[in-house]
Amino acid sequence: MFSKFLAALCIALGAFASCLAFSPINSSAAMPVDSSLPIIKSPKATQSKYDDRIVVTWGKNKNSKVDKYLVMRKSVNDKTWHRLGFVSNSTNRYTDKISGDTKYYKYKVLCIKKVGGVNCKSDLTASGTAKGWCDVSICVDPGHYGDKNNNFSEKGADAKYPYSEAQQMLILGQKLADALESYHMTPIITRSSDDTGAPGVDVGDGGLDSRGLLSSGCDFFVSLHTNATGAQKKVWQQSENKVYVFANAYARSGSNFDLAEQLGLAATRQLKVTGARDFDGGLKEFDDSENDDPRVNGSTLFRNLDDGRDYYAVLRAAASVGTPGVLIEHSYHVNPDVRAFLLEEKNLEKLARAEAEAIAKHYGFLKR
Ligand SMILES: [Zn+2]
Repeated sequence: MFSKFLAALCIALGAFASCLAFSPINSSAAMPVDSSLPIIKSPKATQSKYDDRIVVTWGKNKNSKVDKYLVMRKSVNDKTWHRLGFVSNSTNRYTDKISGDTKYYKYKVLCIKKVGGVNCKSDLTASGTAKGWCDVSICVDPGHYGDKNNNFSEKGADAKYPYSEAQQMLILGQKLADALESYHMTPIITRSSDDTGAPGVDVGDGGLDSRGLLSSGCDFFVSLHTNATGAQKKVWQQSENKVYVFANAYARSGSNFDLAEQLGLAATRQLKVTGARDFDGGLKEFDDSENDDPRVNGSTLFRNLDDGRDYYAVLRAAASVGTPGVLIEHSYHVNPDVRAFLLEEKNLEKLARAEAEAIAKHYGFLKR
């Protein structure tokens, strides 16, 4: 009654805006904590079909005594939790409309109940956190161009698997971009044809620098490759079979590193049918003798120049514009079993979907 009366008074005085501080959401600032109230431990934050909305959901309320929920939000730069609003106990979702440039938020959901005439809340510190992103764009780089790394001209027992890394990675890249789009993320592809394709890409250096630079403003950069061995005794008939993920300077820790690991796992699970070794993950420094060893499992690696910058030009360029990114070696195309697998379009489709799913899960996107 009080706030209704106050609002009416404010409108009457023509000063409604100055009275917003007394609206019900803020009047609960001193709401006491009631430790007997249920704690929402695992809320989820997923993107809606709109770029600028994050949907927070939580488990159905089994405690009929909870009157309503309070949804709290914190951006990456915030020190404290902000109140977004109350929702009734008959629902378990809240749609947060985002404005501004921030893409990454954390959420908590508190249970609210009236005890002795006073609204009480569950413990904020004990409540679980959901992480949500909005407006995520992923730069997809199908490695190489033209007829790079193909065995078309090789004469050998494996001639029945004519393979081109540039061509198969282009197919994989296009499928990955489509799959990302189906999750309502925004893919940016560095080439869409046999040449380096994309506008502004300098073909002179294979487009390596300009491809990485195209990722400017993106949330993540993924360069798609298949591997070869330095010294081939029998050309295109090697037995090495494992996935490597090279993480650039911005993807070696925290959540970006988690995503690097998930991509390595996703690719390995698909290539398993060819006999690919497990993916142990864990950040290791690239070492010719150790990581290249076919008896060692695949992992996430970093490889630097002497000056400390990324060894791979395309990863270095992505890092130069602040984009975390990885280069994925989808095992070895010099292995005939792997090559046979990668030549099947349906397998590239599975790989693309698995990688898109890993990215989508990471950012909290749902397929629609
Ligand atoms: Zn390559």
